[in-house]
Amino acid sequence: MKAVSIAGKGKVQIEEIPRPEVPPKTLLLKVIYCSLCGSDIERVYGPHWDTNSPLLANLKGSILGHEWTGRVEEIGEGVEGWSVGDRIVDGRIYCGRCWYCVRGMTYLCMGGRVRGYHYDFSQPETTPPRWGALTEYVLRTAANCLKVPKHVSDEEAAMSEPLATGVTSVLNAEVRLAESAVVIGCGHIGLSVLAAAKAAGAAPLIAIDKIDARLEVARQMGANITLNANKVDVIEEVVNVTAAGPDVIFLATSSQAPGIVEQAFEMVRYHGRIMIVGQAAPATLQPGRWLTKEVRIEGTVHVGEAMIPSMKLIENRRVNLKPMVTEIIPLVEAQRAFDSMHKGTNIAVVLKP
Ligand SMILES: [Zn+2]
Ligand SMILES: [Zn+2]
Repeated sequence: MKAVSIAGKGKVQIEEIPRPEVPPKTLLLKVIYCSLCGSDIERVYGPHWDTNSPLLANLKGSILGHEWTGRVEEIGEGVEGWSVGDRIVDGRIYCGRCWYCVRGMTYLCMGGRVRGYHYDFSQPETTPPRWGALTEYVLRTAANCLKVPKHVSDEEAAMSEPLATGVTSVLNAEVRLAESAVVIGCGHIGLSVLAAAKAAGAAPLIAIDKIDARLEVARQMGANITLNANKVDVIEEVVNVTAAGPDVIFLATSSQAPGIVEQAFEMVRYHGRIMIVGQAAPATLQPGRWLTKEVRIEGTVHVGEAMIPSMKLIENRRVNLKPMVTEIIPLVEAQRAFDSMHKGTNIAVVLKP
C-alpha cells in the first residue's frame, strides 16, 4: 500500500509499505480522507530543518496525518461493538493513571499522544513514528475510536478533529449569546473556531486575515464582517464596530505572524478575553497595562471529548464546514497538497488515498 512520509525540508515522498496485520483488540481501517493540518505544514517546512535539532531524526521518514476518517475493514480478536463498514474518527491516546488522567483531564495526559501528530515518542510505536493516516490502511486500538454518525459526510468527518479545537476554545472562552468575537487568522483552525463561535451565538462575528480568498470563505461560514489586515487598520475598524473592543478574540495565526498578540491585546475591550489557538509568534506585553486592562489570556488545545459535540454540531447542521475544504487531492499528489497549503492557496486540503 502507499504511504506519504517526510523526506526532508519541504519534501514528502510516496512509499510502498506492507499492509499491516491486525493484532487483537485492534481495528484495521481503510483511510477514506485525511486532511492536512497547519502543524503538518510546520513540520515539513519549519525552521527546525535549518538547525541540527535532534527531533529531525524522528521527523525524517515519519508518516503524518491526524485529521482523518476511516472505514472498518478488518476486526481484531476480542473487539466488540464494531462492524465492518463502520466509519470512525481517531481519539487521543492517554494513560489513564497520571495526575491529569485521574482528574479527568485526559487531553493533558503526561504520556498522551495523537497518532500521526506526535513524533517524539518511542516504543511501542516505531521510530520514526509511522502511525499517521497519510496512507491507505492504519491500525487503531478499538477503544480509541469514535463512530461517525450517519448524517455526517466523509469530508465533514475528516474535519471534525480541527472543529474540536474550535469547539474547545469557544467553550473555554465561555462565549455567550450576542457577544462580539474576532477571529484573527482564517486557516482551517481559525475557520473551525469561527464556525463554533457562530453556533454559540457570537454577534457580531469578525474575521481577520491577509488573504481575500480566505475572508470570502469566512463570510460563507458565517462571519458578519471581514477585514483584510493588509488593507485596513484592523484595530480601528474593530473598535469602531464594537464601541469598546470585542468581548473575545481568538488568535489562530501561525508563528510566522509577529505582533499578533500585542495587536489583540490593544484591540480587546477591558476585562475581555484572548484565546490562543494557534502557534502565535513570541510577544511582549506590559504587565502594568495588563493589570489595568484586566485582560484574560488563555491557551487552549483540543480536548479529545470535544470530538463528540463537534459531530453533533455537524450532524444537526449547526456548522457548515464545506466551504473550508478547498480541494480534494489524490494521496499520490501529496507534494502538491503540502505546497498549496504552505503557499496559502488552499485552506483545507483533503487527501484521498
Ligand atoms: Zn491538527
Ligand atoms: Zn495520563
